[in-house]
Amino acid sequence: MSDRVHDLVALQDLELMIRDAQDPASKEKEEALGFAVHGLEELQKARETVVKKIPPRDLRLYERIRGKYQRVVVPVRSRICLGCFQALPTMATRAVSENGPLPTCENCGRILYWL
Ligand SMILES: [Zn+2]
Repeated sequence: MSDRVHDLVALQDLELMIRDAQDPASKEKEEALGFAVHGLEELQKARETVVKKIPPRDLRLYERIRGKYQRVVVPVRSRICLGCFQALPTMATRAVSENGPLPTCENCGRILYWL
């Protein structure tokens, strides 16, 4: 996985964790289980750090896709996009150059990474 895609996956994971931490249902569950509700601030700090590493262009693409789907960066397995479960064209390339476009699914537009 390229560093660019790796940072986007990290951002996505953090955002999912932040959403969970903010979810009153999971908060109640944690309290009922006796866990302290904490970590939201740390998660948000970590998110800021990751965001600073991501090129603005990649971030814009990420945010555009996030407006449509909960998961923005999805894995590819056996040439199937695990976001929309469509087969990718044979030409789909896993190579990510330093400044080139990120690999995205032709069908759903999500950013792809290969397992
Ligand atoms: Zn797709």
